[in-house]
Amino acid sequence: MGEFDLIARYFTRPAARAALGVGDDCALLQPAPGTQLAISSDMLVEGRHFFADVDPFALGHKALAVNLSDLAACGAKPLAFTLALALPRVDEAWLAAFSKGLFALADAHGCELVGGDTTQGPLNICITVFGEVPVLNGKSQALLRSGARPGDDVYVSGTLGDARLALEALRGTVALPPDLLAQARQRLEQPAPRVALGQALRGIASAAIDVSDGLLGDLRHILHTSKTGATLETALVINLVAAGSRSDWPTAGIDAEKQMAFALAGGDDYELAFTAPALAREAVQAAARQAQTPVSRIGRIDADPGLRLLDAAGALLERRYASFDHFA
Ligand code: ADP
Ligand code: MG
Repeated sequence: MGEFDLIARYFTRPAARAALGVGDDCALLQPAPGTQLAISSDMLVEGRHFFADVDPFALGHKALAVNLSDLAACGAKPLAFTLALALPRVDEAWLAAFSKGLFALADAHGCELVGGDTTQGPLNICITVFGEVPVLNGKSQALLRSGARPGDDVYVSGTLGDARLALEALRGTVALPPDLLAQARQRLEQPAPRVALGQALRGIASAAIDVSDGLLGDLRHILHTSKTGATLETALVINLVAAGSRSDWPTAGIDAEKQMAFALAGGDDYELAFTAPALAREAVQAAARQAQTPVSRIGRIDADPGLRLLDAAGALLERRYASFDHFA
């Protein structure tokens, strides 16, 4: 099978909302009047972001999920994406499963594949997503990293640490009971981007980011860009660890200290971390209900730069948690 048959077979569907989809030199997109485009790219590299033997359906899902997560963090509505793919060889069973996982998530979010590039080479998947954000009275409604203000609350959606738990299990550093492994692995391999929540938080959240490298590291980006600091209550963070299955963690040899490390710095959670004025607490919870995504308040923004962690008694914790950095 040649390059063009491969594209036609696995990656071409009739254009839906796009003015022009796959098949010409460019795709054509028409953002709705009164909106601007939000654009983001993420690359997944074998051996770096996934294991060679990962389920191709899950990989198709995750490649798009990590991109949709960036749109979510900006409060953007998904519109379309492009796919640049390097493949070592044509493996039709692999391609069929990969495109199925990719399109299942794309369809769930009304996000259309409009083009890309296909080449032979070490397995590498690069997606660029395009989303829409309203502009009201000349002002973009996008959620940015720069809007946090002293006194704002700090929130995180969903749960934290599950993906890291699965990663440790796959690396063989912890042994998990089958139920817990399946649940954690789902979070690692098929994360659910918080797209509805991001849009519901427009006009309410003062700043937002998606948690890809670990809560603390990603929150620091907000603090740095907003020129603020923050204080987090670890007693509130530990509650977010693997809701529903946490009682299994100690039996698998994962003590409270490790749970905390996974939650604070685990990476690959794809939750949203965001800030909002204390006066907006009810609005935040209403947005969470509307998006059917739980959110938890875990701390507050301070004028003092830096990130402080408090223990259950309100005392300052000295321990440092490193988050993920490709070049560290
Ligand atoms: P060009 O050489 O003009 O860049 P290509 O021959 O690479 O075009 O691609 C032909 C068409 O197929 C283009 O519309 C391109 O966007 C699309 N395409 C290529 N690879 C993919 C892919 N992996 N997924 C979706 N569309 C693709
Ligand atoms: Mg090309």
